[in-house]
Amino acid sequence: MALPPDLPMAQKRTFTLRSLRGQLTLWFSGLSLLTLLCVGLYVGRLATQQMAASAGAAVHAMALTAADLLGAGLREREMDIVLLSQAPHFTRGDLTHPDLLLSLLRRRALREEFAWLGVVDPQGNVVQAVDGLLQGQSVAQRPWFIAARSGVYAGDVHEALLLEKMLPKPPDGEPLRFIDFAAPIFDHSGELVGVVGAHIHWHWVTQTVQAAFDQRARDSGAEILITNAQGVVLYPQKMTHQAQLPAELRTGRNQRTTQVRWDDGLDYLASVVAVDSRTSRNLGWSIVVRQPLHQALEPAHAMRNQLLALGLLAALAFGGVALHLARSFSRPIEQLAEAAHRIERGDSEAEFPAKGQLMEVEQLSQSLRSMTRTLLAHERELEAVNQSLEAQVLERTEALEVANRELEHLATHDPLTGVRNRRHFDGKLAECFAASRRTTLGFAVLLVDADHFKKINDTHGHPAGDAVLQALARLLNDAVRSVDFVARYGGEEFAVLLPHTADGDTALVVAEKIRSAIAHAPFPGPGQVTVSIGASVWQPSDSGAEAVVQRADAALYQAKAAGRNRAVLSPQA
Ligand code: GH3
Ligand code: MG
Ligand code: MG
Repeated sequence: MALPPDLPMAQKRTFTLRSLRGQLTLWFSGLSLLTLLCVGLYVGRLATQQMAASAGAAVHAMALTAADLLGAGLREREMDIVLLSQAPHFTRGDLTHPDLLLSLLRRRALREEFAWLGVVDPQGNVVQAVDGLLQGQSVAQRPWFIAARSGVYAGDVHEALLLEKMLPKPPDGEPLRFIDFAAPIFDHSGELVGVVGAHIHWHWVTQTVQAAFDQRARDSGAEILITNAQGVVLYPQKMTHQAQLPAELRTGRNQRTTQVRWDDGLDYLASVVAVDSRTSRNLGWSIVVRQPLHQALEPAHAMRNQLLALGLLAALAFGGVALHLARSFSRPIEQLAEAAHRIERGDSEAEFPAKGQLMEVEQLSQSLRSMTRTLLAHERELEAVNQSLEAQVLERTEALEVANRELEHLATHDPLTGVRNRRHFDGKLAECFAASRRTTLGFAVLLVDADHFKKINDTHGHPAGDAVLQALARLLNDAVRSVDFVARYGGEEFAVLLPHTADGDTALVVAEKIRSAIAHAPFPGPGQVTVSIGASVWQPSDSGAEAVVQRADAALYQAKAAGRNRAVLSPQA
């Protein structure tokens, strides 16, 4: 039986994706990665939405706070001016009185944001002012003066025209700008006696709104903007070149947080809240708070990235666990395969893994074990049958050989005397003749005929005659060499072939020896038997073996004629 190739087990256990191990690991880690990615992305999306909502609420709250602070501040500043204009020493009508300047100075000392405070006569000439600024000059064309002659005025921001050169620059680099407050001064009869005017540093406005802004808000990239009634950005200065807000923010005055794309191409969370100044004249300003979307959502993105990283780690861990599980699942199967392979290679000692396995593997193992037992038993039976068959064949072969040998013996020997038969003698004679032609070693033929044999039969019976023939054959065999060839030539006639005997005298010596041995041998029944012998030797001139036999036959005839019990050599040519 040809053995299957013995592949090394290490090669069979190589980790490939086609193996059970590879498949289990791939599916486990793939599915866990997919699940965790989905969960990560979904939770990340939820977190992003929530983060956007809470960041939006924070932005809106900041805008509300800033608008409230600014509205209250403006109202307070306006009330300062109104109260001054209604103070008794103002309403008395003497605008040159030193108490007025004292009041103005005290007010400025109280509120540093007042850049300028002054009283103006009904014609527009500055009568008294803090630090004497603009004193004696005409403000008759200034809008605040014109408006304040008839009522309280709160004015939009403007560049300082007259005060530019007289006042220090603000510290934040913003240009020197002011908002104006003014109130008419009426005497007791209700006649206009002058106007109290004030310029408040724009710087105070921006600081007021920035106060609504804590450090955390600034770190998160949030910015605060002030826009006027037309939607033009008043603050910060770097954005005043932008004529207007994005369209979405201009639609409503009070707007909760929305996502807006600004003209810098970035997306922002932005909230607009109108400043309710509650002053005599509404300025129509709005506070806009905006925060870059990517910064607002940064925590959510960080969380999503952490979730994804966690998912990846978990997938790796799952993959590791899966590999371990797959290994423990596939090991018994591999052991089964290995045991089956060993049994296939003829190792009947190979064991299938037994207890402590998965139920299915254990069942398979048991089935294989019993199948192997059955197969091995069959194999043993077959082997026994084979052996007995082989023994039978051997026996039959031997019997056949014996029969063949017997057949061959029967074909070549005389059944009565046991010496060779005539046919065999003829074959041997032809061989000797052919050999003599090659070697010239020659051969001799003796024809031995029992004398008066008919009489023995007649006198002692045919069985006694047979016994005489057997005794004659034995005597002949005893009298010649082992290389010589004795055969029964006919009824009571024998032939003896003497190979390598070219000399006639030698042949005659052998013939005489035979004759004498027989003549002196005792025979049961007749007592004595004699033979006559005709001898001849091969001659190179002989055309065939028959010639040698014919000459021996002629010599035998002569021996008979000469009175029997004698050997005669055929004359040589
Ligand atoms: P001679 O001396 O001239 O040879 O006389 P002979 O009687 O021997 O010769 P003959 O040829 O007249 O007789 C031969 C006899 O041998 C005749 C035959 O019955 C007998 N004989 C031949 N074969 C057998 C045999 O197998 N068994 C027995 N018992 N007798 C045989
Ligand atoms: Mg005869
Ligand atoms: Mg005879």
